[in-house]
Amino acid sequence: MAEDKTIFAMIIDDELPSEKLYEDDQCIVIKDINPKASTHVLIIPKSTEIPRLADANESHQALLGHLLLVAGEMSRRLGVDDAFRLVINNGADAGQTVFHLHLHILASKAFDEGSLGKEFG
Ligand code: AMP
Repeated sequence: MAEDKTIFAMIIDDELPSEKLYEDDQCIVIKDINPKASTHVLIIPKSTEIPRLADANESHQALLGHLLLVAGEMSRRLGVDDAFRLVINNGADAGQTVFHLHLHILASKAFDEGSLGKEFG
């Protein structure tokens, strides 16, 4: 139903603008609108079946593997393959705000040695 549509589903359907860096049949990669690091992109599956990683099941195995391969490829294309973080926030208490699975690639020249949740860039 339209009212249940997430921001990311609207971006996938071209109902909202985005800075798209990559697209294939299974996912898109866009720039995060509110970057927490000098490089901050989101890998978003086109499937709307997985609100949170914890909702994934064996039928999603190939898709999840594909998303990781795209993460590696994007890290090379963005020139950050020497040092990046891949983050999935699962659940509101972990900071998830959009309930459509997505992977954050975060990279900065000067990584803080602090915790994963710390902002850097
Ligand atoms: P999370 O907190 O893990 O659910 O991450 C959601 C991310 O989506 C945040 O980093 C937001 O800055 C980002 N975001 C929200 N709306 C947009 C948008 N329209 N285009 C790009 N990124 C967005």
